[in-house]
Amino acid sequence: KARNGHESEFLQAVSEVLETLEPVVVQMPEIQKHSILERMVEPERVIMFRIPWVDDAGKVQVNRGYRVQFNSAIGPYKGGIRFHPSVNLSILKFLGFEQVFKNSLTTLPMGGGKGGSDFDPRGKSDGEVMRFCQSLMTELYRHIGADTDVPAGDIGVGAREIGYMFGQYKRLANEFTGVLTGKGLSYGGSLIRPEATGYGAVYFASNMLAVKGEGFKGKTCAVSGSGNVAQYCVEKLTQLGAKAVTLSDSNGFIHDPDGIDAEKLAFVMDLKNVKRGRISEYVKKFPKATYTEGKRPWGVKVDCAFPCATQNEISGSEAEELVKNGCKLVSEGANMPSTPEAIEVFLKNKILYAPGKAANAGGVATSGLEMSQNSMRLSWSRDEVDQKLQGIMKNIHDNAYAASRQFGNEGNYMMGANIAGFLKVANAMIAHGVI
Ligand code: NDP
Repeated sequence: KARNGHESEFLQAVSEVLETLEPVVVQMPEIQKHSILERMVEPERVIMFRIPWVDDAGKVQVNRGYRVQFNSAIGPYKGGIRFHPSVNLSILKFLGFEQVFKNSLTTLPMGGGKGGSDFDPRGKSDGEVMRFCQSLMTELYRHIGADTDVPAGDIGVGAREIGYMFGQYKRLANEFTGVLTGKGLSYGGSLIRPEATGYGAVYFASNMLAVKGEGFKGKTCAVSGSGNVAQYCVEKLTQLGAKAVTLSDSNGFIHDPDGIDAEKLAFVMDLKNVKRGRISEYVKKFPKATYTEGKRPWGVKVDCAFPCATQNEISGSEAEELVKNGCKLVSEGANMPSTPEAIEVFLKNKILYAPGKAANAGGVATSGLEMSQNSMRLSWSRDEVDQKLQGIMKNIHDNAYAASRQFGNEGNYMMGANIAGFLKVANAMIAHGVI
């Protein structure tokens, strides 16, 4: 705390994990002897750099770039790149720290990292985004590599940005390798990667419901965000017979009581991914829906909630409101969307609560599958990747559930996920000696 006092998001993520690891630390004295926790909260390396670029008016702009290489005990650093004006070291350290546990949970050999910039892609032309991505990669390329550190997308970084960054990496390094994931299909991308995080959050929730002997048929669901994760979360919910009734962005949310079906979702995908418009435009096209400015969708009566926008987007009072309205399940597509107060409400009320590091691990798991395909120089079919994704989400669910039972808090997925993710990394760190 003394060293990171001003990094509120990072401290929030670390406290949540450390509190739940107590039963393991008590049972395993070697954790303390080897100072595993003290080492795990310190990133192996942080790179910070200037990103100068020229805007359409010919003026030079400057942003700040980061890569946090958090932990490489079980594989090369792996984690997304975020472009958002709020990006700072605290946010990237929280995301990198979470990523270490998440990647371990996937059962694939990936360490944890995260990067990004305070660049705001909103309102920028394609040319500006390209010049920015090229400048970022001109510095970053010397720190990453297919066996060193493999970045991917996150908020503000989708297929377009990955394409520009990959192109510049290839040019500078003079090699064609799987150094980034989330690539386009024509140059090494994997089928199902765009869908994987949203689908995965729904698959995880299905596994939680199955423990209770239930399924998604007939359930009404609130989804927040309207980007990559939210879109495919809605798609999978609809396919499984549920009704997704909300979407949002940083300005407000829409509520469509009839459900956002495949046709309406196609409109949203065009609006957000091609036209880069705002979610408020939904109600112009579908007037039976309503738009509420300046609010989040947690006051709507639903059975399940899927926060898929950003960190700390469910407050304690919003969690109370969800529970009061009959919500029984929360599956986090986003990273740390629930505040500590909200988590307390969910646990107190025995809500089926899936923390992001377990529920949204499908994205990075499929990135891991993209890396395997790149190394083998082949590509798997859509169905093959989807089957593997479903298998991985079931494993993560079962491992988290088993760990929660073993350590005396059956059904507490937050505790189970933290412990299951932690043990593999801790054992590898002990084996590697003092590094
Ligand atoms: P996108 O950029 O595609 O979409 C982000 C969405 O969230 C947009 O609708 C955006 O609205 C909204 N949003 C962003 N910041 C805020 C904010 N401060 N307040 C309210 N709304 C906000 O990102 P993704 O869908 O990829 O990521 C969403 C979440 O999922 C993030 O937490 C990310 O870390 C997590 N995640 C993503 C993975 C992936 O594979 N992409 C993998 C695992 C986790 P607006 O347009 O107004 O900014």
